[in-house]
Amino acid sequence: MTYFENAENRGHESVHHFYDSQTGLKAIIAIHSTALGPAAGGTRMWQYDNEDDATRDVLRLSRGMTYKNAMAGLPLGGGKAVILADPAFPPSDELFLAFGRCVDSLGGRYITAEDVGVSVESMRLVKQVTNFVAGLPPVEGFAGGDPSPWTADGCFLGLQAAVKHRLNADSLAGLSVAVQGVGKVGYDLCRQLHAAGAKLVISDVNEANLPRVQSEFGALAVPIDQILFQDVDVLAPCALGAILDARSIPDIKASVIGGAANNQLATEEDGQRLYDRGILYAPDYVINGGGIISVSFEYMSNKTESEVYAQIARIPERLVDIFALSDQQQKPTNVIADLMAENIVAAAG
Ligand code: NAD
Repeated sequence: MTYFENAENRGHESVHHFYDSQTGLKAIIAIHSTALGPAAGGTRMWQYDNEDDATRDVLRLSRGMTYKNAMAGLPLGGGKAVILADPAFPPSDELFLAFGRCVDSLGGRYITAEDVGVSVESMRLVKQVTNFVAGLPPVEGFAGGDPSPWTADGCFLGLQAAVKHRLNADSLAGLSVAVQGVGKVGYDLCRQLHAAGAKLVISDVNEANLPRVQSEFGALAVPIDQILFQDVDVLAPCALGAILDARSIPDIKASVIGGAANNQLATEEDGQRLYDRGILYAPDYVINGGGIISVSFEYMSNKTESEVYAQIARIPERLVDIFALSDQQQKPTNVIADLMAENIVAAAG
């Protein structure tokens, strides 16, 4: 498929390439949809093997943001930026200022924030040259700052709804949960699960992250190649994407899956595989929407932390609708979620 066919097939509105000879900046900003509002999504800085990989990534991620923002009930479309990291041009203040000018040149059709490889400090630089940016340090009591705790809140509330639906459990007390990845979101989710009375099994490639979860929340650490297959009620992927595939799904013992990681299904068919095995999958871009809710409320300004929480508390409602429709129509939850998101966007368009 050619580059233009790829963009057209995924339904993008526009794709913008930027090059700055002074700083070596090479960036792509993909605007998938502005039907619901300005296209919002973070900036990823990554050393791609080649430009095709960067293009594929930004097209895939920006489309995902359209679905995520729609399902989070936000007045925002979907977009994403990638900066192609180049060892010959280490990230400098000038590079992020140049990137900010690129964002500004789109006149507000795209709003950026931090993503993998990009810090709050970088976004402060971007803010010097454009107002179309969020993810900056918060003012006390107002929305903003690190979105991870908000993402964990949404995941926790979403898992409560999922165990109610699949296990008829009124809470997570006494249930066992395997958490893959105890970084920013995973740690905070473990804290909430432990407080709710859940038993925790954890793993992390970075072993330095394990001891605090073991000592603070009594979690049992297992090797990284075993975490998906634990004999638990719930599996919460909070590390990587594409972990649910034809090889892993047959050996999963949990009856509920829900967590922060983006793109957990390796392919769309893996949603059907989970459905066929009777495993309830909470679609990732619905259950992990807490972070984008926080970031977008910061952008809208004057929104308080309680308003952020109130919006995040609606994530379980959305999931309950998805689960009910999945049962009625006998279709996997990922298919139902995609249709719901597409209908929201189509109605606005
Ligand atoms: P993080 O980097 O702080 O944590 C990820 C953790 O996973 C790290 O501790 C890492 O060592 C571990 N890990 C990596 N590979 C692993 C493996 N194979 N097995 C076990 N552990 C492994 O990132 P985070 O901010 O906590 O985000 C976690 C996931 O959630 C990511 O996929 C991210 O894209 C997604 N997400 C995060 C947010 C947010 O607000 N931070 C919002 C939406 C989605």
